[in-house]
Amino acid sequence: MKLLSRGAAVGAALIILAAVWAAWPAAGVPILSYHKVGDTEEAYSVAPADFERQMAYLADKGYTAITMADLFGRLTAGKPLPARPVVITFDDGYADNYYTALPIMAKYGMRATVFVVTDFLGERPYLTWDEVKALRAAGTEIGSHSLAHRALPELPADERLRDVAASKEGLEWRLDAPVRFFAYPFGRYDAASEEALQAVGYRAAVSTRLGLNNPGDDLYALKRINIPRSRWGLLEFRLRLLRANVYEKLGL
Ligand SMILES: [Zn+2]
Repeated sequence: MKLLSRGAAVGAALIILAAVWAAWPAAGVPILSYHKVGDTEEAYSVAPADFERQMAYLADKGYTAITMADLFGRLTAGKPLPARPVVITFDDGYADNYYTALPIMAKYGMRATVFVVTDFLGERPYLTWDEVKALRAAGTEIGSHSLAHRALPELPADERLRDVAASKEGLEWRLDAPVRFFAYPFGRYDAASEEALQAVGYRAAVSTRLGLNNPGDDLYALKRINIPRSRWGLLEFRLRLLRANVYEKLGL
């Protein structure tokens, strides 16, 4: 009996230690990956009320939203970042990023990077060029999510190069600003995709691999934390952040 209770005490202590270890922040910057913020039931559409809870949680925990450019400066030149940095990204360029997500983010002092598919712009449910410009004027960083959302590894080499170059040039011409960051359609990439991005002047790219980002990591395969539609509320969001933390610590 005595032995059992000692065993139980040791077990409880181990569980507490493991929980502290898992929750203790790992080095590395998290990049959150969103798509839509809206009331449709799609798996990649986060309900506005949930999105607001997530932004409030980040603000409450002292996170500061930084841009891909800020993260790039940190990873390549060791530039300082706020104490708890986070990059908030949106893929595909949905109009709700402007109409729904932006006002919620503004309320909590957050900002985002929106990766747009240039050929999709101007046709609902995607952003128009004017809305992309308005997003940018409101402090949102704009990146490329390719020309037509095709998986880069499946394109012939010349077509792949044309795709990533045309998307970059189109954005730069319309926005009159450099576009340096890319998000892989379907998260699909290979060595040839990374080389194509580098060849046309992108400085870094985000993938869908889970984890946090540190100096020395492959700049063309940065890791993200996918945030799909919530099923169990804020706990699920917190567990997703925690899981990335654990992955990082275990070097997965
Ligand atoms: Zn996409």
